[in-house]
Amino acid sequence: MLTKDSPVIIVGGGAWGLSTALHMTDAGHTNITVYERAEQIPSPYSAAWDINKIVRAEYEDPFYTKLALEAIRGWKTPLFGPYFHQTGYVVATTGRAPAKAVEHLEKALLSVQADPAFAPGIKRLSGAADFRDYTWQYSGPLSGFKGYWNRLAGYAHSADALRGVWEHCARRGVRFVLGEEAGRVERMVYQGRKCTGVATADGQTHEAELVICALGAHGASLLPDLGKFVVGRCWSVAHVQLSEEETNFLRGIPTTNVRDLGFFFEPDPKTRLFKLCPLGVGYTNTRSDGVSLPPPDRLPPPQDFIPAEDEKKLRQLLRETFPWMAERPFVEQKLCWFADTADSEYCIDYVPGTDNSVVVLSGDSGHGFKMMPVFGKWVVDLVEQGKQSLARWQWKSPDKADTNWGDSVSWRIGKGAELRDLLEAKDKLVRARL
Ligand SMILES: Cc1cc2nc3c(=O)[nH]c(=O)nc-3n(C[C@H](O)[C@H](O)[C@H](O)COP(=O)(O)OP(=O)(O)OC[C@H]3O[C@@H](n4cnc5c(N)ncnc54)[C@H](O)[C@@H]3O)c2cc1C
Repeated sequence: MLTKDSPVIIVGGGAWGLSTALHMTDAGHTNITVYERAEQIPSPYSAAWDINKIVRAEYEDPFYTKLALEAIRGWKTPLFGPYFHQTGYVVATTGRAPAKAVEHLEKALLSVQADPAFAPGIKRLSGAADFRDYTWQYSGPLSGFKGYWNRLAGYAHSADALRGVWEHCARRGVRFVLGEEAGRVERMVYQGRKCTGVATADGQTHEAELVICALGAHGASLLPDLGKFVVGRCWSVAHVQLSEEETNFLRGIPTTNVRDLGFFFEPDPKTRLFKLCPLGVGYTNTRSDGVSLPPPDRLPPPQDFIPAEDEKKLRQLLRETFPWMAERPFVEQKLCWFADTADSEYCIDYVPGTDNSVVVLSGDSGHGFKMMPVFGKWVVDLVEQGKQSLARWQWKSPDKADTNWGDSVSWRIGKGAELRDLLEAKDKLVRARL
């Protein structure tokens, strides 16, 4: 029976592990230790190690719309507020968008248009002049752009938010053990069915009444069965280095998501980086046992590389919007890993067969960062109730799981690929240029 002073271990100090530490502390738990393999938080292994993430509440499914609205209220509190920027959100498709992208946009718009929380801040946009009303800096043709503007959204500085919540939790008594030796958990320790703690890379074991695994894309490295329904997948990220004048020129532009090409944010004033992400299915790294995990030593991961197809999309996005940037070099290119599920549902549940000694937080499916202010509350509810009553967040037994999907997810356009094929294609290209 878990009491408020029972030892609890959280493995992973990313967006969900930190939110869990925060809310468990708020709920009165006094004996929490977070193990994190990075030397400091934000961890470069976290999907949230980034200058910005979209915070928006429109979903095809009203269940997540409601949760994201609650999260946006959380972003407006003193702890999270310094990292939130309500720049508004413009969603569009170009004249060449496939039907799937247009349908997704219409569904997302429907989910917010009628909701009294959003209605006054939503405007349908049709044609270049409408888009320039919200982003006067556009000098590209915006060919066939259609979409909408949503006032109640924007972005959060994700790396800074991780650092802020880490410092806050540490001040409130949560212990953090960091680093590749003391902080990296190598395996779970079991006595019979029950997990009694974790073993770290420095050879130590640490006991706990409850172990909460919040490992992002790395979940199946400690919980192998998770890999049967959660897929480690990555997307490309690229940046353009701007001058001070260019950064100031683009200050305040809305977070903009062109569903058939990609999305971008106002430039980061500190680094003057303008971040872009292509929208697509993403890439897997599937081992011979069928489980996809990030490459084991991903530092340096395949850095300074994004697939040619993604680069093409991003350059097209720039030609349509800010053509003066379209041929500039991309810097800090990377592949960023997350934990994906077939139905984009999270998994927040006890691991079956462990006598409620292991909780797994996984399946963020690329839309989990925005929930950081409220996520940990759902873990507190789980622990207080002793079971996950929401079917959609339950552990999926292997017979219900099917990892052969990817392209069918409604909000992803295009085709997936295996990382090794991409790297091979890149090597061929480099060799051909020599
Ligand atoms: C390119 C990209 C764009 C995204 N954009 C958005 C967006 O716009 N909006 C949004 O809401 N979400 C977005 N996401 C998703 C969001 O980043 C994730 O949902 C969120 O980071 C998930 O949090 P997490 O704690 O589960 O995992 P992570 O934040 O990845 O954290 C996992 C942590 O576990 C640690 N760890 C791993 N293995 C071990 C080990 N063995 N021992 C100790 N520690 C370990 C890692 O170092 C890391 O700190 C995006 C993701 C990607 C990849």
